[in-house]
Amino acid sequence: MRDFAGEIEARKNAGLYRLRRLVSGPQQPRLTADGEPMLAFCSNDYLGLANHPALVGAVRQGMVEVGVGGAASHLICGHHEAHHRLEAEIARFTRRSGALFFSTGYMANMGVISALAGKGDTIFSDELNHASIIDGCRLSRARVCTYPHGDMSALERQLAVTGGHKLVVTDGVFSMDGDVAPLRQLADLCRAHDALLIVDDAHGFGFMGPDGRGSVASLGLTEEDVPVVIGTFGKAFGTSGAFATGPALLMDYLVQQARTYIYTTAMPPALALASCASLDLVQKEQWRRDHLERLILRFRSAMTRLGYELMPSETPIQPILIGDVRDTLKLSAALEARGLLVTAIRPPTVPEGASRLRVTLSATHTDADLERLIDAFAAHSLSSGLASRRPISVVSD
Ligand SMILES: *Cc1c(COP(=O)(O)O)cnc(C)c1O
Repeated sequence: MRDFAGEIEARKNAGLYRLRRLVSGPQQPRLTADGEPMLAFCSNDYLGLANHPALVGAVRQGMVEVGVGGAASHLICGHHEAHHRLEAEIARFTRRSGALFFSTGYMANMGVISALAGKGDTIFSDELNHASIIDGCRLSRARVCTYPHGDMSALERQLAVTGGHKLVVTDGVFSMDGDVAPLRQLADLCRAHDALLIVDDAHGFGFMGPDGRGSVASLGLTEEDVPVVIGTFGKAFGTSGAFATGPALLMDYLVQQARTYIYTTAMPPALALASCASLDLVQKEQWRRDHLERLILRFRSAMTRLGYELMPSETPIQPILIGDVRDTLKLSAALEARGLLVTAIRPPTVPEGASRLRVTLSATHTDADLERLIDAFAAHSLSSGLASRRPISVVSD
């Protein structure tokens, strides 16, 4: 038998072994992890809705009215009024003509990309795109051209020499860097080269743009500019599930073709009702975005003053680039000893030599919470000199 134990041992020796923390109780900044009370700065629950009473109430009432199980796939008899209502509300929210509800963002990317590209087609994909996009590209069996992160002249050159159906796919907000794709240039290039543009805005929805309508809306780009936008309910919306939005005709095409939509059991309808309640809060409670924005600015200026190397991010994702795997783990452990949970992100999630601490901020962090985090970074930068070491750049030149 293959030496699995040896492979795991090798991972441990390289500092790349991954383990899961056991959380008990609700997801919120103050949580219990492995039995210890911690203050967490690593969740994607950016607006602090995951444990909101209105969502808990919507699930509870929904369960009483529509039961628990999804029972069947959407094309058999699982397509419930609750899912349908959520699709209509998402289409209205994003100002787009149609929406399709998926079970997770991972499935949405796999399904949409593999339905819209196939053998003989070419997909152009940013090198820092999320794993689910990479897997969607592989599943499609199309030719895949990866372009350097955000490099529009490289993409333009690739597009110019390619025939057949073309698809360009990118994260809206990059999940491990927090920066935003050059969406306007992408839209222009795609129009000029007759390529279909797909933006996965898992981290933009809820925070960016008017009423949290995402990175595409924040630039005033329409369905003509960016035909397909994908989002997840699992992050800022605080629930579960995902969606694709775009022209009604394309959504219908996905119903026919997207295998991850067709061959899976519909999500419990009560969860779709919770997402409807969440969508309402996201639009009404602007204070969450305002507070989050203030936290981001304060964090960035304090960390810059301390000499840490931040990345060009204006989003709640604020990575601190360290470079070396072991240094990153060391800093993460030092923070943990002070009751602060900040995840170390290592290869293969990020490129070799680009290990980082991925700090994420939430609307439910208080000013005092942020102060605690900054104090811990201040103490550690003095004790180890980590902050003054120049990290290796992630962006290839
Ligand atoms: C988290 C994430 C996904 C997956 O969404 P889930 O609903 O968690 O499966 C897809 N794309 C990006 C960019 C993500 O960060």
